[in-house]
Amino acid sequence: DTISLTGKELAATLNSETAERAAALAERGAAPRLVLVVANDDPASGWYVKSLQRAAGKLGIDCDTVDLGATATADAIRSELRGLCADIAVDAVMLQTPLPERVALPDVSSAIVAAKDVDGVSPHSLGLLATGLPGFPPATSEAVVELAKHHDIPLAGRHVAVVGRSNVVGKPLAQLLLAENATVTVCHSRTTDLPAVTAAADIVVAAAGRAGLITGDHVREGAIVIDVGTNEGPDGKIVGDVDAASVQGKAGALSPVPGGVGPVTTALLMRHVVRAAEASRA
Ligand code: NAD
Repeated sequence: DTISLTGKELAATLNSETAERAAALAERGAAPRLVLVVANDDPASGWYVKSLQRAAGKLGIDCDTVDLGATATADAIRSELRGLCADIAVDAVMLQTPLPERVALPDVSSAIVAAKDVDGVSPHSLGLLATGLPGFPPATSEAVVELAKHHDIPLAGRHVAVVGRSNVVGKPLAQLLLAENATVTVCHSRTTDLPAVTAAADIVVAAAGRAGLITGDHVREGAIVIDVGTNEGPDGKIVGDVDAASVQGKAGALSPVPGGVGPVTTALLMRHVVRAAEASRA
């Protein structure tokens, strides 16, 4: 039988610790404060912003949103991010995607100082991660590793195939897995014979943003499958990158969507916010 790698318990454990630490900070003067910067009118981004605000609110983290509009220039976004990073009343800054056309993420994310870059998106934060220096790793990538650890899945020495090479998920995840001593193969849209590559792995992580991409043919008997994908299904519900029905019974374990990587990602982001606040007041 295929075990379900749910993220709900782990998220609850992380959240109760975060709430305690946020309360302790509030008692000492001010609650931790996160600012979300938005420059789009994308419904999925809007939904994510609302879910972050809700999560922060439950944990005693102040969360404001600055909406620059879908036509904001790179200069306007950079200058907003610089202002927030210079503001001692702001502990953490997150820039939402998608960005306006013609604005590239690294061009603007470089304006977020590493100490407040709780989702680890800036070139500086990614460099800290790649060199093994302390910083905030991107929460989604960290969630994959933490979810595996929570379910006692060993990573050291094992062959992990990561499907996706984005700067947001695939590449930082490869770095985190290397730091856990895994042997890592990174696959992408130009990989020749994806099923052969993933079927050779002990663990497959799907982060391609393609519903149903990973089927039973992509995984070997007993392999662990972690699904990062969040795609809109035909009925408007959220579905992963894994065709769960065809992987069921063949994979040793599979993380559900929703309820797997997602809740852990949010919980880790909020933990980063509290950590940033603690560091700034030390
Ligand atoms: P992206 O579009 O930036 O990158 C997708 C990557 O997948 C690319 O590197 C591409 O080469 C690869 N890819 C695309 N089609 C492929 C194919 N047919 N075969 C092999 N590789 C293929 O997306 P992203 O921002 O990295 O996000 C990936 C997925 O993770 C999306 O579904 C996104 O919604 C989801 N996501 C989830 C969370 C979470 O908290 N659960 C957070 C961030 C992103």
